[in-house]
Amino acid sequence: MPLKKSSLAFSLALSLLCASLIIGTIYATMIWATNQSDLSAVHRQDRLVELVVSKSKDAVAHDQESATVWDDAVRKVAQHDKEWIDANLGRWMHSYFGHNGAFVVAPDGQLIYGFSDDESDELKAYRGVSDAATKLVESLRRRLAEGDTTGTDDHTLSIGEADIVRINGRPAILSIKPIVSDSGQLSLGSDTQYIHIALRYLDGDFADAMGREYLLTDMRFEWHREDDPGRRYLPVTSKSGDVIGFFSWAPFTPGRAALRATEPALMVGGVIILVGTAGLVLALQRRSRRLKESQGRLMHLAHHDALSGLPNRASFDAIVARTLARSEGAVLFLDLDRFKKVNDTLGHAIGDQLIREVAARLKTTAGSGVTVARIGGDEFTILVAPCTPTAIEMLAEKLISAIRQPFTIEGQPIVIGLSIGVAFSAGAADTLDVLRRADIALYQAKAAGRNRYAIFGSQMDEMIKSRRELEYDLRSALKSRDQIEVHYQPIFSAADGGLIGVEALTRWRHPTKGFVQPDVFIGIAEEAGIIGQLGELVLATALAAASRWPALSLAVNASALELRDPGYALRVTSALERASFNPARLEIEITESTVLENEQACQRNIDSLRRLGVRFALDDFGTGFSSFGRLQQVAVDRIKIDRCFVSGSPDLSNNEAIVQAIIHLAHAQGMKTTAEGIETDEQRAWLRELGCDELQGYLLSRPVKSGDIDELYRNDSEQRQTGSS
Ligand code: C2E
Ligand code: MG
Ligand code: MG
Repeated sequence: MPLKKSSLAFSLALSLLCASLIIGTIYATMIWATNQSDLSAVHRQDRLVELVVSKSKDAVAHDQESATVWDDAVRKVAQHDKEWIDANLGRWMHSYFGHNGAFVVAPDGQLIYGFSDDESDELKAYRGVSDAATKLVESLRRRLAEGDTTGTDDHTLSIGEADIVRINGRPAILSIKPIVSDSGQLSLGSDTQYIHIALRYLDGDFADAMGREYLLTDMRFEWHREDDPGRRYLPVTSKSGDVIGFFSWAPFTPGRAALRATEPALMVGGVIILVGTAGLVLALQRRSRRLKESQGRLMHLAHHDALSGLPNRASFDAIVARTLARSEGAVLFLDLDRFKKVNDTLGHAIGDQLIREVAARLKTTAGSGVTVARIGGDEFTILVAPCTPTAIEMLAEKLISAIRQPFTIEGQPIVIGLSIGVAFSAGAADTLDVLRRADIALYQAKAAGRNRYAIFGSQMDEMIKSRRELEYDLRSALKSRDQIEVHYQPIFSAADGGLIGVEALTRWRHPTKGFVQPDVFIGIAEEAGIIGQLGELVLATALAAASRWPALSLAVNASALELRDPGYALRVTSALERASFNPARLEIEITESTVLENEQACQRNIDSLRRLGVRFALDDFGTGFSSFGRLQQVAVDRIKIDRCFVSGSPDLSNNEAIVQAIIHLAHAQGMKTTAEGIETDEQRAWLRELGCDELQGYLLSRPVKSGDIDELYRNDSEQRQTGSS
């Protein structure tokens, strides 16, 4: 059973969704982790820049002290020695520490020295810084006057003021230091001290150097913060807290960098996972589909007949139980006529093929909505539900005529027949009872002559019951031996009408039912497996009686089942011996089908008895379906032309051709012929004319008791004697 496409697509989509969710979650986690690490990295960079700026302020002050805390400097500024100042407090600081400007202011506020790396005129250069510087200078002088030494230590030798300010349109560190004695020998009052001013711009090379040194990409100073997520802005504030501007750089984001580096691998991994998941799902689906298919196959094998592909008995029974629980219906039991013969004579391969073709024909004839099953070798069953009796009768007829059409298998035309038993569920106790009824009806159809159908009726149950009773009674009759009688029907010569033999015909005197005809109880004896005993009893009785009629031949009937028994010949031989009966006087009547079955045991029985002198006759000849051709292979001594050719058919002219052919054929083979069932003088005359050898029938005599034959025999002997004398 193929898996539904939609369910496959659904599971595939579901699995891919799950895989995508997992990948998505992993990716989101990674993004979160990178963001976290980037955030802390950026914070660290902020702190770094902050530190660098504040350290730079200290550094400028520290640089200044290398020259401002010096006795020489105190002396030289007081002398206004510009050359010295330029060399030690001005240009030197520029070339050595990279300061952008240096100024020296006298105690009266006069500029005595000025240097700027972008303005050669010292007054102009000082004008740029003077505003910012004046405030710092005033504050420093105040502290000097107060003797405030806050911030000084071993490292910082003099107090100072510094701030970040805007100078000439540029951000800058402005640091103010007093020029003081390093030895302490030149002590100056606060109002006589010279002041040194250092200027360090924070943009330009400062920002470049900071970027280079601390690996901050594209570091620059900006006056305003831009709305650029790719850049970091750190405010640069003056002492009073005013934001001067911003240091800005492209922050190093290690997380994002790592993510960017791993993204392709991640994507490839994701695709691999998705493809892998899809592949896995498809493979699993395929596996489960195969599993389902093989389970389906196993189920099919368990519930179907391998040869025909039809449901088997178990599954038919289940279907019947299921279906009939819901609605009324009919069960048909079908049995092929003559199938066994096809199997035996043409081989099992052809038999199997025939079964397949029969199955196909039954199915097409039954049509859809009808269950056809094979429950045994040549047994089929059909369930129709719901249904009407008329429809079922029509179906049964259609089935019979369909199977009667010749089959052609491997070029071989094969003709078989079909018997059908029908049972309706209405009125049955349960489903088992329906099946049982159909079986009984089939039995009836077969007993009624095959190639027909029978519908179960309550009388059939009665029949079955009485059959069972009869079987029981027959067994006890055989034990007691006094209910089984043998009557004898005389057989006369067609030529002179003389008595030449008798046929022993068994009769059962039932204690309550009266005489039971052999047509009824022979079949029961066969089915019950007691036909051998019956035959023996009849033979012994007949041999004993016929011993009184030494001039007559004795014919006894034997069933096919007896002939098939390997011990049959021996039993007959010992019966002959016990009765001291001449084997040549005994003729055993068998039917066509017995010999045509071609059983080896049967053939051996015939052969050994014939060697002993016992003769064989083919009884009821013409009613079977054997061809005249095959008859030639059968070794018998007599053919008994069936009653139906003599009295049964009104169309004598057609029968004449057949009877004539039988007689010719028999004579050609060296066989004699007996005509059965002569009831009229015309029939007797007609058969005489056709050349039949012996005659038997009610016209001449009914089967009679042995005492009557005694009398007939005596009369016949007397007649012969008078005739001959
Ligand atoms: P069958 O061997 O063909 O025997 C001839 C049957 O035809 C006998 O019936 C006989 O009564 C009947 N019959 C004879 N002449 C006429 C006639 O002119 N008109 C009509 N309508 N019937 C005639 P019966 O005795 O009822 O036997 C029936 C069959 O039972 C026999 O057919 C034979 O096949 C079988 N049978 C009888 N006795 C035995 C037996 O001891 N063993 C076996 N295996 N079969 C037996
Ligand atoms: Mg007979
Ligand atoms: Mg007969």
